[in-house]
Amino acid sequence: MSHDPALPEAQFGTDSVCVIVGASHAAAQLVASLRQKKWLGRILMISDEARLPYQRPPLSKAFLAGDIAAESLAIRPPAFYDKQNVELVSGRVTAINRLQKTLQLSDGRELSYDKLALCTGTRAIRLSIPGATLGGVHGLRSQADVEAIRRDLSTARRAVIVGGGYIGLEAAASLRKQGLEVVVLERAERILQRVTAPEVSAFYQRVHHEAGVVIRTGVTVTAFEGDGQVERVTCSDGACYPADVVIVGVGVIPNAELAGAAGLKTENGILVDECCQTDDPDIVAAGDCASQWIPESGHWRRLESVPNAMEQAKAAAGTLCGERSANNSLPWFWSDQYDLKLQIAGLSQGYDQVVIRGNPQTSRSFAAFYFQNGQLTAADCVNRPSEFMLTKKLLSQRLTPDPARLADDAVGIDSFL
Ligand code: FAD
Repeated sequence: MSHDPALPEAQFGTDSVCVIVGASHAAAQLVASLRQKKWLGRILMISDEARLPYQRPPLSKAFLAGDIAAESLAIRPPAFYDKQNVELVSGRVTAINRLQKTLQLSDGRELSYDKLALCTGTRAIRLSIPGATLGGVHGLRSQADVEAIRRDLSTARRAVIVGGGYIGLEAAASLRKQGLEVVVLERAERILQRVTAPEVSAFYQRVHHEAGVVIRTGVTVTAFEGDGQVERVTCSDGACYPADVVIVGVGVIPNAELAGAAGLKTENGILVDECCQTDDPDIVAAGDCASQWIPESGHWRRLESVPNAMEQAKAAAGTLCGERSANNSLPWFWSDQYDLKLQIAGLSQGYDQVVIRGNPQTSRSFAAFYFQNGQLTAADCVNRPSEFMLTKKLLSQRLTPDPARLADDAVGIDSFL
């Protein structure tokens, strides 16, 4: 086989084994990047879901709405894994022995590795309240979760969604589209409180209200009640909501226990440097489970998004192949609800000023720009792709526009660059 001069020389021989734990967005990208970077050795990908890597974002959107079939969730076609010579292992890793470089699986098997990639993601938080295990009460993290929800939907008329974050609200939109009566119960004083400005929360409250979704904020769910199958949801204020199906979307926990038990540093995720290496030079972590050191800000940062999983997987593949390149990609996210495409560039946490461009009270298109100490840090752009692109460019060039001009919708986007 001749060597493509554009590609680095292979660093590891055909005998080397790279094991990837988890098989989702980060893992699928890691496979592609490892082969691009000339990893010639074996690649084993272990999944406890017994499925090839599939996309999670459509789970609360088109797949829950019944608009797409399960086959279209695949991140890559099955032939890709054959072509890349990936050995797919169905099972759950329960322990890492770093001295012997072996992994223990729950069924007793033991696997050896030379390099290890932890792409274990997160799991949905389950509520520890009475009735949490009743039929009809679901989390929303996996394809199996949504398949179970969809089975209930064939007879359900009333849905209660616990949690007014992006996943809960996307689910509300998808179920409303199918004609269900939908109630969203949120413990905080406003929906999306953790992630957006009050103006953006108020906008989504309005559009859901206009779509017929009932949103209750400042309420704590205390129990699910029913005889085997959920029939109603009760709250701390005494209110009770009838429900044929319940979706709980109250956040996630990083799957970092495996790494922690093996002595790797963890703290709300597996701690990795800017090249996604853990404190063991033979082990990387990428995706939702990884908390990355950001040298510029001096912070650890764990992100839950597909773009982050992919960028970290590319950096992790480089590290495994001995070519260190930092992941300093700009964070971005999206959320689809009804006809609204929300695109978020940057991170708004810690903002001290919000500038609104457009009118979120009356229209379905606007942008909220976030500033901290006079510096632009992020933007939430609803049906505003130009403002989203602008923000990405401004943030990557560390430019800050004049807030007053930004607020003026008549000032052309091009003038800010
Ligand atoms: P995960 O996708 O969490 O996958 C980890 C895999 O590892 C899982 O299959 C898990 O079962 C497996 N695993 C864990 N431990 C073990 C073990 N010990 N042994 C074997 N296997 C193990 N992001 C966006 O950017 N935009 C969106 O619109 C968006 N919408 C979303 C909607 C929903 C409903 C959900 C659930 C997520 C959404 N996300 C969205 C987030 C996005 O899906 C995640 O950021 C992404 O899936 C992270 O990929 P990952 O590979 O890090 O981990």
